Amino acid sequence: METRQGKSVFSGVAIGKLFVYKKAKQVVDKKTIEDPAAEVARYMAAKEKAKEQLEMLKEKTMKDVGEAEAEIFEAHQMLLEDLDFVEGITGMIENDKVNAEYAVFVTGEQCAALFLSMDDDYMRGRAADVNDISNRLIAILSGTQVSAEAMPEPVIIMAEDLAPSETVQFEKDKILALVTQKGSANSHTAILARMMNIPCIVTADIDLDPDLTGKNGIVDGFTGKIYIEPDEVTAAVMAEKKKREEERKLLLQSLKGLPTVTKSGKHIHLYSNIGSEEDVDSVLENDSEGIGLFRSEFLYLGRDTYPTEEEQFQVYKNVISKMNGKKVIIRTLDIGADKQADYFQIPKEENPAMGFRAIRICLHRPEVFKTQLRAIYRASAYGTASVMFPMIISVAEVKKIKEIVEEVKNELRQADIPFGDVELGIMVETPAAVMIADMLAPEVDFFSIGTNDLTQYTLAIDRQNQSLDDIYDPHHEAVLRMIQRTIECAHAHGAWCGICGELGADMELTRRFIQMGIDELSVSPVFTLELRKKIREAE
Ligand code: PEP
Ligand code: MG
Repeated sequence: METRQGKSVFSGVAIGKLFVYKKAKQVVDKKTIEDPAAEVARYMAAKEKAKEQLEMLKEKTMKDVGEAEAEIFEAHQMLLEDLDFVEGITGMIENDKVNAEYAVFVTGEQCAALFLSMDDDYMRGRAADVNDISNRLIAILSGTQVSAEAMPEPVIIMAEDLAPSETVQFEKDKILALVTQKGSANSHTAILARMMNIPCIVTADIDLDPDLTGKNGIVDGFTGKIYIEPDEVTAAVMAEKKKREEERKLLLQSLKGLPTVTKSGKHIHLYSNIGSEEDVDSVLENDSEGIGLFRSEFLYLGRDTYPTEEEQFQVYKNVISKMNGKKVIIRTLDIGADKQADYFQIPKEENPAMGFRAIRICLHRPEVFKTQLRAIYRASAYGTASVMFPMIISVAEVKKIKEIVEEVKNELRQADIPFGDVELGIMVETPAAVMIADMLAPEVDFFSIGTNDLTQYTLAIDRQNQSLDDIYDPHHEAVLRMIQRTIECAHAHGAWCGICGELGADMELTRRFIQMGIDELSVSPVFTLELRKKIREAE
């Protein structure tokens, strides 16, 4: 047995097989090879393996989702066998004496370019399929993996680091735990792990040897320990710990259906944070009273093009309908900083956390913003929807947003498209917004305090910087005073005020937030029942 240590950012115990995840290399090295025949054989073996992976994916998708959705993998299998593609690769290996990875990379690029130049939407769409196949082949050839989808059972993922765009691509029920060599406690990957209710350990001293894949592992999210090939005693102790944790969760079930009121009778709205439609199940399972933050930008990640109005409408409508009248607050897209999507083509920035992100992008690209707002407003006809805007720093921004919202509403009215009564709010997550909260409050229905960013900007500490995790302190008096001021300004102007940052789930502060007058707390669904217990015990 080997034991490794990291910093736990979400507790729980996971027991299962390890899976070493490495990003498929973007730029493939060109190498000269001595034996082209052996290199062609290596490529052929990789092709066989890719075929098997695709077959597995096809069968799984057919079973879990449907036949139509599984067709994509059949198309990939056909492209994999396409004679031009295969001969392009083998020809390059034989004639230019280059390594298989490089031959696949170049041939894939050429094929994709050819598809992209075609005057037909369907054919242009095939370029992405060719890229997918090249990446899969390169990943197999270089001993890396495309994703955990290739694993037949749920796994403990070990990686150097994970960007939100990668984490969203994992199938949630295939992940038992996340363990990364880098990463910070306040990153979006940590937030996603909490949302997925799985243990997560960052800055772990793990090796990423591909041979570890398939070995037994245990992750103790309470202590930050990772056990590789655990011995019998450790396995038994950890199984017992896991059982106790499950029993504790079971006890909390008795709080389901009870109101979230303090002893003195104040009702605190207890809502959930979500990142996708799938998360709604956990919101309902944990008896949350609404959705206080839908991080809509996750719809924009892990893909090559902007999601269309129709695609977004379907997702928002499904979420709102499933919530069956309970409030759903959709935050407009907060792309930028650590949440990057290449197709936004945001120029490289020195300081992305303070750069072109969130509402700044939306106000600069009104067509992108309006597409999202139209989708939200259309979906609002199916239940109770609110919308809020991230990274606000001025009244002028809010006025501009409201103008655009009015335009969208007028367009919908003219087209006879119904929409509901949508509350408008802003995220208070910059010190500027706190300082002018008295001027912002009359403009909106509510404030939602984003303590993750508010802490980073107030303390001037990059939330992504793992070496500063120890001094990133959301309990800092400066942050708490910011929260107090925001609540007071909201109430003075008839707006309500909640917290949707991770601090909302910090139960050491629950009493203090209640004393400050907080109206709503929005937390990862897994914290709902425990927080309800805490609120019911407070005065
Ligand atoms: C926050 O900043 O507190 C917040 C809720 O938004 P995000 O973590 O997505 O930046
Ligand atoms: Mg934020």
